[in-house]
Parts: sequence; C-alpha cells; structure tokens
Amino acid sequence: MERQEVNEFFSTELLAWYRQIKRDLPWRMNRDPYRVWVSEIMLQQTRVDTVIPYYNTFMNKFPTVKALAEAPETEVLKCWEGLGYYSRARNLQAGAREVTERYDGIVPDDKASVAGLKGVGPYTTGAIMSIAFNRPEPAVDGNVMRVLSRYFCLEDDIAKPSTRVSIEKLAASLIPEGAAGDFNQALMELGALVCTPKSPGCLPSCPVMEHCTARLEGKEHELPVKTKAKPPRPEFRAAAIVAGSGEHAGKVLVRQRPATGLLAQMWELPHLLLPKDKAGWLAEHAPKEQGELAAMIGQMLEEDTGLLIRPRSWFTDADHIFSHIHWKMRFYLADLGEASGMLEEVASAAEYAGIAAEAASEYNVTDKLASHYRWIGLEDMETLPFPNLFLRILKQYWE
Ligand code: SF4
Repeated sequence: MERQEVNEFFSTELLAWYRQIKRDLPWRMNRDPYRVWVSEIMLQQTRVDTVIPYYNTFMNKFPTVKALAEAPETEVLKCWEGLGYYSRARNLQAGAREVTERYDGIVPDDKASVAGLKGVGPYTTGAIMSIAFNRPEPAVDGNVMRVLSRYFCLEDDIAKPSTRVSIEKLAASLIPEGAAGDFNQALMELGALVCTPKSPGCLPSCPVMEHCTARLEGKEHELPVKTKAKPPRPEFRAAAIVAGSGEHAGKVLVRQRPATGLLAQMWELPHLLLPKDKAGWLAEHAPKEQGELAAMIGQMLEEDTGLLIRPRSWFTDADHIFSHIHWKMRFYLADLGEASGMLEEVASAAEYAGIAAEAASEYNVTDKLASHYRWIGLEDMETLPFPNLFLRILKQYWE
C-alpha cells in the first residue's frame, strides 16, 4: 500500500469509528466555543471521569464568557477546587475577560485571536478552532503524539518541541475535508480509549490496526520515545493546625497565598519551608522528637501573625506532588499561648532557634492578625478555595 493510501485509510477508518462509538460527554452537547474552551482547559492533565462533575458545576455557575469574566476569582477557584493546576482556572478567567473586553463576549472565529488568549496554547487553539468552528487545524497533545508515533512508527523523542512541530504538520495533513472537529476528537478518543499508554488494545478493538506500523513491527509497547522529565524537587515543610480560643473557639487559623506564583490566591494552613540542613529530619526523626521543628513553626507564625503559637502534638504527614516540586509535609496541632504537650521541648529548642525561652512568656495573645490570615470554621470551607492537600487535612481535622 502506498503512503497516501495508508494515510487515507487511517483518516477514513478513524472518523467512521468515532462517529459510531463517540462517548456522550457534556461538552459535546453542542459546538459552543466557550463550552469547548472550558472543557479543553479542564481536560489538560486530568481524566475525563474526574472532569465531568466539575464541568457541569462550572457551566451551571458560569454559563457564558461574560458570567465567567464578571465572577470573583475566589468563586472560580472554589469551583476548581480539587482539580489542581489552579493557574488554568485563573488563566481561563483572564481569557474570558479578554474576550469580553475585545470581542464583546463572543469567542472569535479567528486562529490568531484565539491563540492570543491567556492560557490558550497551540493544542487548545487547535481544539477550539477545529471542534467549535470546524477549521482544519491540528490539535496535538500527548495522546495524539502517542497514536501517530505508533501508527507511523515515528521514533523521534516526543518530549522535543521539534517533534511536536513535525507531528502537528502530519496531523494537519490527515484531516479529512470538512470533518476537522470530528477527526481531531477521533484521534483523542482513540488515544484515550484504545491506544492507551501502557496497554494499547490493538486487537481486536483498534479501527486502524490493519496498517499500524508499530503493531506490524511489534513496537507498539516501545513507542512513543519520550525522555523522562526530571523528578520533582523535594521540599520539606512543617505546618500548624492552630486551634482558636475565646471568640475564635472551634476555629482554625488559615492564610491566603500571594496573588502570584504557585497556588496563587488559594487558602492553606500556615507552614514553612525547612532549611536544607533541617530538611532531613522529616525522614529521619519520629514526629515526637522534633521539638526544634515545632519551635521554628511557632517562631515563624509569631513573626507573621503577632500571635503566640504553641505546637502541641504531631497530627499527620502528607505529600503533594506538583509538576516540578514535591512537598513533604508534617502537620502539628497547635494552641494559642498556653503550655501543653510539647511545650518544654519547645522551650528548650527555642534557644537553639534563637528565641529566648523567657521571652516567650512575655508574648501576649492578641487579635492582631496579618491581613492574609483568617480564623475559619467548618462552614467557611464552603466558600474559601483550598488546594487538595489542605482540604484533605482540614476535613480529617474537623472529623
Ligand atoms: S494498532 Fe495498536 S498501536 Fe496501532 S494505533 Fe491501534 S492501538 Fe495503537
């Protein structure tokens, strides 16, 4: 079979297969570009099953570009809570504001304008242009690169930008006339359901297996070639769950992260990054041995909040992995200014940490809090957005 015929076979069979089996997903209800845009952003790094309930809630709450543009950022983040990669939500809202200001709330049928929106990369541009407007633009993500690497037995490293560019050209050349939206979704669907990363289901379910070069050469498990990314850098952090007293009884102390950077504007339990020479403790020492660590948290919180915080006992350890950082966290229960549990240990460790132990007794508990701190009760969890890690720990705490 000639190369041209192999290509045509691929496009024709794949499209026919998709039109028969395509899943009934909420973002496929119509071709509204805003709906496509939201779904494509949510689906980045996230499984379809996970996205569906989030998508439905999000579209109910923000049914139009303008509704999203006008919403308070906290509400948008709250709707995204648990999905991770929160910069996606912030960028999506920034993009919605651009569309509202420049295009009167209507996503433009123009590749350059769509590509210029905040948070919209080449893949999302291709997905919006093809699915919403049926323009013959490729939409190449990891799934599509895997499928095409296998079908055409391409051995270039898909982690390299140059490989992506050449696969985009190839994908564009395969789009059947007038069927860009369905064809791109067919490619994604094949990658998601059949030509999966670890166990490609070539036989009997793949519609293009007859001419798939990797399968014919027995290389479907070797492809695609992808150099491994560096493992995330470990960071050791200590956190406190500070129980309120007096008018704040039954509440805990939380703080809002800065407006930019990792998890921007999300809420969290106060914590500190351990210096490198202390970091090994989390791995090497049992929680109870760590009076010095507890003293450091107390000191940091005192400097930041003006409150005297007394770490009392270990609560739990937890991990969170971002794409480039691995947080290894130890959580302590803490009280305001009263002696209990770890206090003696804390007091002696305080000298080491540069805090005069006797000075500790001079601190007064005040209500003066830095503006990014807040006392919250269980009911506030309904409105403030927390990253998954803190959500989990706080739920465990309230329980
Ligand atoms: S035959 Fe196998 S390797 Fe080839 S495209 Fe189909 S599932 Fe993927």
